[in-house]
Amino acid sequence: MKQSFYDLNYSDLEAVINQNNLNGTAASVLFNWHYKKKENAQCLDNIAKLAVDFFQNNFDFSLPEIDTVYESNKDRTVKFLFKLKDAHKIETVLIPFNNKYSICLSSQVGCAMNCSFCFTGKQGLTRNLTTSEIVGQFLQAWRWLAIHRPGEERILNIVFMGQGEPLHNFDAVKKACEIFLSKHGTSVGIQKITISTAGYIPGLKRWSEEIPGVNLALSLHSPFEEKRNELIPINKKYPLDEVLTYIDQIPLNKKQFVTYEYILIKDFNDAPEDAKKLGVLLAGKSAYINLIPFNAFPGSHYQSPDLDKIEQFKEVLDTFKIPTLIRGTKGDDVLAACGQLNSRN
Ligand code: SAH
Repeated sequence: MKQSFYDLNYSDLEAVINQNNLNGTAASVLFNWHYKKKENAQCLDNIAKLAVDFFQNNFDFSLPEIDTVYESNKDRTVKFLFKLKDAHKIETVLIPFNNKYSICLSSQVGCAMNCSFCFTGKQGLTRNLTTSEIVGQFLQAWRWLAIHRPGEERILNIVFMGQGEPLHNFDAVKKACEIFLSKHGTSVGIQKITISTAGYIPGLKRWSEEIPGVNLALSLHSPFEEKRNELIPINKKYPLDEVLTYIDQIPLNKKQFVTYEYILIKDFNDAPEDAKKLGVLLAGKSAYINLIPFNAFPGSHYQSPDLDKIEQFKEVLDTFKIPTLIRGTKGDDVLAACGQLNSRN
């Protein structure tokens, strides 16, 4: 089987070109064609024709196939169900803001984390995605926009908050980030990419050493050990205090902050005492809190709190002077909101 072109970052591509004594300009020509212009036809460049032909003959240019597209009637959120070569399926979500989009990418087929509130966790882990399957979600979503919402094909933020634990699949996620960041390629700004984790410390170490400019989001969900153990089983192996201590000693850029995600679950972690303890834990850090009202899915037993409870929670955090945002539930009518992705159904 041929290797996928979309598994190569820019330096991999240059290496293949050197090893095969091909025209050196081909690297930027090919990256430009596929990532900047986002063409899916064969590259038509005369300067580097030999090299272009070499890649066309020796590499695979196929991308994950769009199986089904779900468009929200409420807010223009789009959820894609992709079919991979081995017939496994994954989901990707385009979240609109002012005629631009954030894309929520999956990093695994399923997930091994088994968080009690997450639909993806219920399907277990099947396998890691390859870099080309990650980058392919972006390219296919972009092309879909170009056809179905022409003029709106602007995907400005990339978040690894779809299916999977991105830090469990670090190599492929890192390479995808390198492709997104490459100035020869999609040229996405480093502050525009966020990796979200349940708190896998070995992956956090690699993130801080290898791609530190990429933003980090931690799924926190409860400041209390017992409750967090119940929500996120990996907390038993990598407890929150160790995760926070680790994150605290990572040098951040001036403008960089860590996002702490907090799902609000009715009568479980939505009381003022939870907010207070969370505030104490995060006060003084370069932190930003995202409050996510729990999104229901078939068979889930948790519920979302009422709006006034959510606002009270935020008011407590405000007293700690931590910037806090209540995240809307875009796309929940098509099960595209946080934690509703499950490609088995
Ligand atoms: N494994 C990574 C990324 C995937 S989840 C992580 O744990 O961070 C992306 C975000 O959606 C996480 O903050 C996750 O906790 C949240 N989420 C999962 N299920 C949810 C649900 N049912 N309602 C609201 N948010 C949910």
